[in-house]
Amino acid sequence: MIRVAINGYGTIGKRVADAVNAQPDMEVVGVSKTKPSAEAYIAAKKGYPLYIADISKKEVFTKAEIEVAGSVGDMIDNADVVVDATPGGIGASNREMYEKAGVKAIWQGGEDHNVAGFSFNSSCNYNDAIGRQFVRVVSCNTTGLCRVIKAMDDLFGVRKVRATMVRRGSDPGEVKKGPVDAVVLNPVTIPSHHGPDVLTVIPDIDIVTLAMIVPTTFMHMHVIQMDLESGGKKEDILKAFGDHPRIGLVKGSTGIKSTAELKEYASDLGRPRADLWENCIFEDSIAVIGSEFYCFQAIHQEADVVVENVDAIRAMTEIVKDPAESIRITNSSLGFNAI
Ligand code: NAD
Repeated sequence: MIRVAINGYGTIGKRVADAVNAQPDMEVVGVSKTKPSAEAYIAAKKGYPLYIADISKKEVFTKAEIEVAGSVGDMIDNADVVVDATPGGIGASNREMYEKAGVKAIWQGGEDHNVAGFSFNSSCNYNDAIGRQFVRVVSCNTTGLCRVIKAMDDLFGVRKVRATMVRRGSDPGEVKKGPVDAVVLNPVTIPSHHGPDVLTVIPDIDIVTLAMIVPTTFMHMHVIQMDLESGGKKEDILKAFGDHPRIGLVKGSTGIKSTAELKEYASDLGRPRADLWENCIFEDSIAVIGSEFYCFQAIHQEADVVVENVDAIRAMTEIVKDPAESIRITNSSLGFNAI
């Protein structure tokens, strides 16, 4: 069993912990918090040993009747891999600690590519992650872009990509963030950082991205256009997306035309936390006009990177060397039912 520690038990960390816990070849040795919170209580209820970044705060946890297993340093000493899901920027400051402990570490998309020197997506470069000590799983938007670009490039060859990200304002529980009544250009300049980030995983793609933030919490919506080298047929694209383990087709017959309906659908499917780990591509939006491909895809920001972290653990620890096999184990352990 691969022993996994999760440093930072927030939106991403708590989902990675549950996903790791569901795998047959991994176990959660601990999760960490900085102060007592609803999530700290949940960690205790789920039986995850709770460690704290600053051990001098142990008293505060004890007063809140939350048992502390030790410091983050202690947690890392018991782990083969640490998944760092601390807020963007904090993860990089933990690198020295991981280096000293000689532990493998995975960072999230809030950190720069340089934190690990290698950016990961299971569908694109799993084999290059085999045996690595440090890996960064790219952000939710970049993960969604990488999956669909790689799938289309394998099928038809992609000459260029133009994509606009309509981004959620905040995660559902983040009461302090987000525009209340505005569309915020994020950034106002073009391109946004997403295109260059895709290049850290799929080099040599001509890609320009634009982004804006809107007052919604559940998902991002991508408007994607690609120029193909050889014109694709819609039925071939539907078949390839239908067969892809991390792409889900939102069927026209469901009548779903919004992220709100998609969230309700995910909930009714019985997905934990209504999580959608796959790219949700609207079947009816797929269009091929000349050599140009178009689609809308919804990306659940809290969920799509979770399964990538699980695969990254397998690649780095070399317990599974075949990407398709790791993806299969991850998906089936989570009960990844088709949307
Ligand atoms: P979050 O704020 O929800 O959770 C971070 C957790 O880390 C919190 O529980 C906090 O208590 C804890 N923490 C803070 N400082 C710490 C420290 N020094 N040591 C240990 N724990 C500490 O953040 P998040 O949204 O889960 O984001 C985590 C990372 O994942 C970021 O890099 C972010 O960019 C990336 N990411 C977030 C999303 C998303 O939509 N939320 C999607 C993809 C990637």
